[in-house]
Amino acid sequence: MAKTKAPRRTLDSYSVKHINRTVKPGDCVLMRPSDTGKPSYVARIERIEADSRGANVKVHVRWYYRPEESIGGRRQFHGSKEVFLSDHHDVQSADTIEGKCTVHSFKSYTKLDAVGNDDFFCRFEYNSATGAFNPDRVAVYCKCEMPYNPDDLMVQCEGCSDWFHPACIEMTPEEAKRLDHFFCESCSSESQKKLQNSHNASRISDTKVDTKRRRR
Ligand SMILES: [Zn+2]
Ligand SMILES: [Zn+2]
Repeated sequence: MAKTKAPRRTLDSYSVKHINRTVKPGDCVLMRPSDTGKPSYVARIERIEADSRGANVKVHVRWYYRPEESIGGRRQFHGSKEVFLSDHHDVQSADTIEGKCTVHSFKSYTKLDAVGNDDFFCRFEYNSATGAFNPDRVAVYCKCEMPYNPDDLMVQCEGCSDWFHPACIEMTPEEAKRLDHFFCESCSSESQKKLQNSHNASRISDTKVDTKRRRR
């Protein structure tokens, strides 16, 4: 007798018993990797479906890739909690869900007071076939012209507002943290010139500047 495929139905939400959490489409989840030595997979649930009895629950997911899973590998500017929204879709058993997580925008991630285990951020979409990123350009900072890695301490120049890695301006992170004011090399030579030009002025305006700031 020919086996007929039982009709499957779409669920609005599903209670994952073993983690005692309810998941629904749009949620981000951690999923058990096939290779146990690997970190959990990060995915966004697109659809949840079950058989007519409500059993055999499957989740349709769109994978987030970690930098080391991308063709280009992890780069220096990639944050430890960075993931890329890929074009790679999959269907997985709901049993492989290990927990819920949050994938923040880059901006909201940099504003978090504390980064928890379940916090990630995404600033790139990733084409899993070509290895291309969207956007393919991002703002770069410092003398090294690197995109910003939110894990790194950076100091801001009060002249040009660019941000610098302590190492790139020959400082230790501790020295950078103690800085009250910072002018980069080109801005300090600029202000030297200005000082010389205006040395007859009765007083040089005493600009109030923020003390050192971190980008998060
Ligand atoms: Zn740098
Ligand atoms: Zn500067």
